[in-house]
Amino acid sequence: MKPDDASPRVSPRVIPIQPVIEPARRIQPRATQGRITRWRWAMVLLTQAFFLGVPWLQVDGRQALLFHLERQRFDVFGLVLWPQDLIYLTGVLVASALALFLATALAGRVWCGFSCPQTVYTEIFLWIEHRFEGDRSARLRLDASPWTADKILRRGGRHLAWILFSLLTGFTFVGYFTPMRELAASVPAGTTGPWEVFWVLFYGLATWGNAGWLREKVCLHMCPYARFQGSLMDPRTQVVSYDVARGEPRQPGKERTPGAGDCIDCTMCVQVCPVGIDIRDGLQYECIGCGVCIDACDRVMERLQRPTGLIRFAARDGAVAGGLAGLRGWLARPRVAVYAGLLALTLAAMAWGLEARAPLGFDILRDRGVMARPVEDGAVENVYRLRLRNHTGRPLDGQLVVRTADGLALVAEPARIAPLPAAGATDMALSVRLPAEAALERAGRTLPVELTVTTPTGERVSERSTFIVPG
Ligand code: SF4
Ligand code: SF4
Repeated sequence: MKPDDASPRVSPRVIPIQPVIEPARRIQPRATQGRITRWRWAMVLLTQAFFLGVPWLQVDGRQALLFHLERQRFDVFGLVLWPQDLIYLTGVLVASALALFLATALAGRVWCGFSCPQTVYTEIFLWIEHRFEGDRSARLRLDASPWTADKILRRGGRHLAWILFSLLTGFTFVGYFTPMRELAASVPAGTTGPWEVFWVLFYGLATWGNAGWLREKVCLHMCPYARFQGSLMDPRTQVVSYDVARGEPRQPGKERTPGAGDCIDCTMCVQVCPVGIDIRDGLQYECIGCGVCIDACDRVMERLQRPTGLIRFAARDGAVAGGLAGLRGWLARPRVAVYAGLLALTLAAMAWGLEARAPLGFDILRDRGVMARPVEDGAVENVYRLRLRNHTGRPLDGQLVVRTADGLALVAEPARIAPLPAAGATDMALSVRLPAEAALERAGRTLPVELTVTTPTGERVSERSTFIVPG
C-alpha cells in the first residue's frame, strides 16, 4: 500500500541519553622546566631520600625512626618514647598543623605544591609515565590510538614500573613499624609474616591508586585542607597569580598591537597544570600552588623577549614582598605572628618536656590476685607490680625506696630495681609490708603509698598508689 502523502510524516527522533555525571577526563600535564620545577624536584628527591633512607639509619644501635608496634615503643633519632609519652606525639601533630598554617598564611598552598606526599608521588609517577609514553601530546595520541604491540609494551612497561615503585614504597612504609633490617632479611628467607605482606601490598596498592589514577582527584575531592585553606590566607599571602593588568587583553601570536596585553593565549600554563585549571581565571580552590604554570609562562615570555613574571607568586592586594618594607609587610601580620608564636611555644614546651624528662619511668600495677594478705606476726602485705621503662639508649638500674606520704612505718627493704636494657622495659613484683601494730590501728583503711626509684645519676622518679589494710 502506498503511504498517504497527505498524512504528516513523523521521522523517528533519536534522543541522546545524557550521562548524569560527566566521565572525568584524564589530565595529561605537559612537562616543564625552570626554576620552580627544579625546586619541586629538589623537594621530591629530599623527601624520598628521607623516606627511603631513614629506616636504614641506626642511632645507638637502634633503628633511627621506628614505631615498634610489637614492643609498643617509638624510637625517634635516639629518643625512646613509650605509649605513656603520647603527649610528645600530640605535640608533634600540633606543631605540624601550626607549621602548615604558618606556611599557608605566608605562601598559600606551598605544602601541597611542593612536599605533600600526594604531589610528590604524582610527580614521580608522571615522570615514569613520561619515560614510557612520552610527553603530553604523545600520551594523548597514545590514549586515542588502538591497542597495538607498541601501545601494549609502553602501557605494560609503565604499569610494571609503577607497581615496582609502589611495592618499594609499601615495603619502606612497613619498615617504619617493624624493624627494617629484620624485614629485609625475612624476604629472601621467605619468612615475612602475613601481616607484613598484607600491609606492604595494601600500601603499595594505595600508592599505585592515589598517584597513578586518582592524582588531582585526591586534592580536589578527598583532601579537607583544600576546603579551609582560604580561611588561613589574607590579602598579603603570596599565591600563584596571573597579572591581569599586564596580560589582558590577550593577543595570540608574536606581534603585539598597541593596547594588547602580554598574554598570547598559548595555553601553556593550562597544559602544564596538574589539576587542569586556568590560572588566568583567578585563584581557585583547585590550585595546589605548585607554580609550574609560572615556569611555563616564563619560558614563553623569554622566547618572546618579554619580561618574565606574567604569572608569579604575588599578594592578592598587589603588595610586593621584595625589599625590606615589602618583607616587613609580608611578615608583620597578625595571623603570621599568632601562628609563629603558637608554633614557637609548642616547640619550646616540647623541648623543655624532653629535657626535663626522667631517664626512667614506671607504672604501678596492683596485683589483682593478691591485693592484701596477712603475714606472720599480724603484719599485712600488699603486692604491686612495677612496669619499668628505660627512656635512654643505655642500660639502667637504680634503687627503689618505698615510703608513705605521711611517714607511716611501712616496712620495705630498699631494693635494686631489675636492670633495664637500653630502651627496654621490664616488669618486677614488689611486696610492701605494714607492721602488725600499725595494721591493727588502721584496719579497714586505705593508706597512701609512694614508690620512688633513684637512678645512679641521682634522678628520682615517684609514683603513688594505695595500700589496703583488711578490716
Ligand atoms: S602561558 Fe602565559 S602567555 Fe601563555 S596563555 Fe598562559 S599566561 Fe598567557
Ligand atoms: S594553576 Fe598553576 S600553581 Fe595552580 S595548580 Fe595549576 S599549575 Fe599549579
